[in-house]
Amino acid sequence: MIVTIDGPSGVGKSTVTKALAARLGFDYLDTGAMYRAVALAMLRRQLPWDDLAAAAVLPALTIELPPGRVLLNGEDVSAAIRTPEVSQAASKVAVLPSVRRFLAEQQRRIAAGRNIVCEGRDQGTFVFPHAECKFFLQADARVRAARRAAELQARGQSVSVENVLADQDERDRRDALRELAPLRPAADAVVVDTTDLTTEQVVETLERVIRARQGRGE
Ligand code: C5P
Repeated sequence: MIVTIDGPSGVGKSTVTKALAARLGFDYLDTGAMYRAVALAMLRRQLPWDDLAAAAVLPALTIELPPGRVLLNGEDVSAAIRTPEVSQAASKVAVLPSVRRFLAEQQRRIAAGRNIVCEGRDQGTFVFPHAECKFFLQADARVRAARRAAELQARGQSVSVENVLADQDERDRRDALRELAPLRPAADAVVVDTTDLTTEQVVETLERVIRARQGRGE
């Protein structure tokens, strides 16, 4: 069974995905980490954000996602991909069709034959249009920025909610306006507004929908 969780930055997808996967006994896939790894590789090579440059470097990249870690050509880049600079860069490489096609193919290969929860921006619309269970999380932009700022501060980065909000708006706009696989809910996604919900409540809501569908053998 494939469960997809899409939504904008800071809506709580990663936390919810991990908790939900643990409760269901499913694997999980953080597709944002893959875009971040490509962005880091391009930043390090000082490449321009265009399709030609991306297409040239992609064949040289191996991205692996062992539980809780991200490896780029064997190097552990789990921390290096979580900086604000890489967040912005990831949303720029995410516009490039060559990158999207390359990563979508890898995501389908990773998910093949598994019970898995896949989170990102295009999982229900573009990568897994036939997923058994699709969710789209949304929340008030300021609440999302405050959550993300708290998360970054807990990791020792000094950021303000205002800065996170500006950065988040820019990334959301880029994600929503791109031509290939823009951020939007799939027609058959269950939309959940997490503004006033705890992580636990969101996870319970999603689990209930999935168990009901499993019970009906859908
Ligand atoms: O989710 P996360 O913030 O780690 O994702 C980093 C960036 O990767 C996002 O801002 C978005 O532009 C891009 N992304 C995407 N499609 C996905 C996952 C992430 O475009 N499925």
